[in-house]
Amino acid sequence: MAELAYREPEPKIIPGARGDWEMVIGLEVHAQVSSEAKLFSGASTAFGAVPNSNVSLVDAAMPGMLPVINGFCVEQAVRTGLGLKAKINRFSRFDRKNYFYPDLPQGYQISQLYHPVVGAGEVLVDLGPGVARKVRIHHIHLEQDAGKSIHDMDPDLSFVDLNRTGVALMEIVSMPDIRSAEEAAEYVRKLRQILRYLGTSDGNMQEGNLRADVNVSVRPRGSQELGTRCEIKNMNSMRFIMQAVEYEARRQIGILEDGGSIEQETRLYDPNRGETRSMRSKEEAHDYRYFPDPDLLPLELEQEWIDAIAAALPELPDARKARYVADYGMTEYDAGVLTAEAETARYFEAVAGGRDGKQAANWVINELFGRLNREGLALEASPVGPAQLGGLIDLVGSGEISGKIGKDVFE
Ligand code: ADP
Ligand code: MG
Repeated sequence: MAELAYREPEPKIIPGARGDWEMVIGLEVHAQVSSEAKLFSGASTAFGAVPNSNVSLVDAAMPGMLPVINGFCVEQAVRTGLGLKAKINRFSRFDRKNYFYPDLPQGYQISQLYHPVVGAGEVLVDLGPGVARKVRIHHIHLEQDAGKSIHDMDPDLSFVDLNRTGVALMEIVSMPDIRSAEEAAEYVRKLRQILRYLGTSDGNMQEGNLRADVNVSVRPRGSQELGTRCEIKNMNSMRFIMQAVEYEARRQIGILEDGGSIEQETRLYDPNRGETRSMRSKEEAHDYRYFPDPDLLPLELEQEWIDAIAAALPELPDARKARYVADYGMTEYDAGVLTAEAETARYFEAVAGGRDGKQAANWVINELFGRLNREGLALEASPVGPAQLGGLIDLVGSGEISGKIGKDVFE
């Protein structure tokens, strides 16, 4: 399998009033598992349903109801782990994370604190041709989503929608290896791309199916120690992640340069004001009184089952990109554009089959994608299929029509 060579990016320095600083970032990404049923009940996960219509007795935490693990969700977590070159833990276990909130009928979230299903892995974050950062994954665990509290429908009342309650999430926790706002956004983009290739999460950020808690700290340039971090909760836009990180790093530098110290806390980003603000001081594991969920058996996975999932993994973005560069002689940039989505790559390969790859890439990127972009159309809605585009390229290639006429025909 081909691999592209890369070097690490230049350090991103933030000049302060008293000296140079750098930022350190680690992310906890919550990705909703693409499953039709919830993690421990058979209720539907369909988006946009009538409030409280997708709620089973288990989700509503009626007395005596027992959770039953959804094996498909476990499989998706394992697939994701394998796609991130991670260690799969053959033994894992569910814990209760206890807290009180109206959108959490059980009074606890079922999560995996002590024994997550997936261990250490890695993601290669692309930062331009030949430049990338390897971000280590600490672990991935499975957990339940909470419901939704609605505060803006009535001046006096709040409402609760439990449709999301109990939906399966994979929490993908990175090591603090990220060093700039751009890297943080690119990390989320790359993770989302891999999840979509694997089909384990649709990564739809608008629908809240991919959310990130962004941990930010700063330290003097060149320092090897970690500073105290703040966690910015529930970010669901790359642009806001970048803005929040920039703001938060400057805020912390300002405090430290004034002789203050950073208090570890959870903050929220307000996109209207472009600021983060304190939500609560950092809670520790003991605040949640974690303990193993006595209603659930540990998960014990068979190695043959894991091996079968590994054998069926699709070709992932890094490998596909490297193959395009090696086989078609195209630039890393073009290969990146064509492999952005699995559908894009499939379209391109259908056009390129038996033809000159570089020429096919030019037509697909410049003519087709250019035109679809201008029209605001997705590739699936393209009126020109790969066979038609390929036929046109053949006519130009054989000299039957000129390149200029080819473009007119394409229009
Ligand atoms: P907790 O157990 O309190 O949730 P973790 O050590 O598991 O804390 O880290 C949670 C997230 O915070 C991880 O993504 C990690 O990379 C990140 N993180 C930890 N320390 C720092 C730091 N000093 N600066 C930035 N991010 C950090
Ligand atoms: Mg955490």
